[in-house]
Amino acid sequence: MTHKDLLAVVSQFESPIYVYDAAKIESQYKRLRDAFKKVKQVKINYAVKALSNLSVIKLLNSLGSGMDTVSIQEVKLALEAGVAPGDIIYTPNGVSLAEIEKAAELGVQINIDNLSILEQFGTKHPKTPVCIRINPHVMAGGNTNISVGHIDSKFGISIHQMPHIERIVENTKMTINGIHMHTGSDILDIEVFLYASEILFESATHFSDLEFIDFGSGFKVPYKEGDIETNVEELGKKLSKRFNEFCVSYGKEITLAFEPGKFLVSEAGKFLVQVNVVKQTTSTVFAQVDSGFNHLIRPMLYGSQHEIENISNPNGRERFYSVVGYICETDTFANNRRIAEIREGDILSFSNAGAYCATMASNYNSRYRPAEVLFYNGKPHLIRQRETFEDILRNQVIFDVNA
Ligand SMILES: *Cc1c(COP(=O)(O)O)cnc(C)c1O
Repeated sequence: MTHKDLLAVVSQFESPIYVYDAAKIESQYKRLRDAFKKVKQVKINYAVKALSNLSVIKLLNSLGSGMDTVSIQEVKLALEAGVAPGDIIYTPNGVSLAEIEKAAELGVQINIDNLSILEQFGTKHPKTPVCIRINPHVMAGGNTNISVGHIDSKFGISIHQMPHIERIVENTKMTINGIHMHTGSDILDIEVFLYASEILFESATHFSDLEFIDFGSGFKVPYKEGDIETNVEELGKKLSKRFNEFCVSYGKEITLAFEPGKFLVSEAGKFLVQVNVVKQTTSTVFAQVDSGFNHLIRPMLYGSQHEIENISNPNGRERFYSVVGYICETDTFANNRRIAEIREGDILSFSNAGAYCATMASNYNSRYRPAEVLFYNGKPHLIRQRETFEDILRNQVIFDVNA
């Protein structure tokens, strides 16, 4: 998508707005699939929570992707998008037995991540095969909020509880058809990932009915030029070889699964905003835009550094700016950023806005959540309307003390 394409999207659909490049989603999907082409059965399940627009789910499904879901609502969204139940894996954390039973009724693959539910579910539904989420206790994340494999993590069943898992499986006669790990975002060191995989291979030998091993996600994507990213090609080479060896020793061809979110959609997305005010203070120049952490919370929540370009004055002289939002609370997108000279009315483009941006948006300050556009074959297609005041009023029930 060129600057011209993006500016045309703002002219047509106004700002703020998220724009997703279908070609980039497609090329990322193919890149990951190709990295594991030496493995006979590979399944990529897109983590719907990264970007849960129906049109994006449909696009990925048409490429052959399954879906990884973390709530019954995401399961329903995937089904609504036309994804076959067998292509959906449900990997919740801390949800009720009742919700897991509902998902099982819908025919999706259940992934259980605690002993209590495993025992209850296995007792009531011994005929429904389940996958179990293992916590290999490998610290692979870049930020403690997104490292989910370490010792005090709330995710997964500890690898040290394998005897207890086996006892439940024996007593309930349930079938374990998959094992899974998701150690956290931002895998920078492939050796650490392979080390965690060895733990998963070892735990796999405790079960005789496996159909797949799911290695989760955690692929780091670049946020700017020169950024370190997960080398998926190298990971593909090493893990494929090891996986094929495992299948031989296991005595059966099983499926290698992944469930990337960010890797597939992060770089495909741009978030476009308009500059309302340029405010010079004694120490800095603020560019205040028609958005805030209600639409892009990642900088405030995780300290994410999204690249910002001034696409309506790309050749302007570069200056330092603090780019901030319009929310009545500290609302900083970036400090001390070198950006081509910003004038009021300019359009700024945030990169890496495909994953965890629209799905984390809120109505804080009673603002509307933005529209979404899918750029496909050179043309923009509206895939979500901007909210209206009706949406702000929806579900409010008036209790009038004076009535
Ligand atoms: C969030 C999540 C993912 C996707 O993580 P990314 O970092 O976006 O690739 C995969 N699996 C599970 C279980 C998740 O909760």
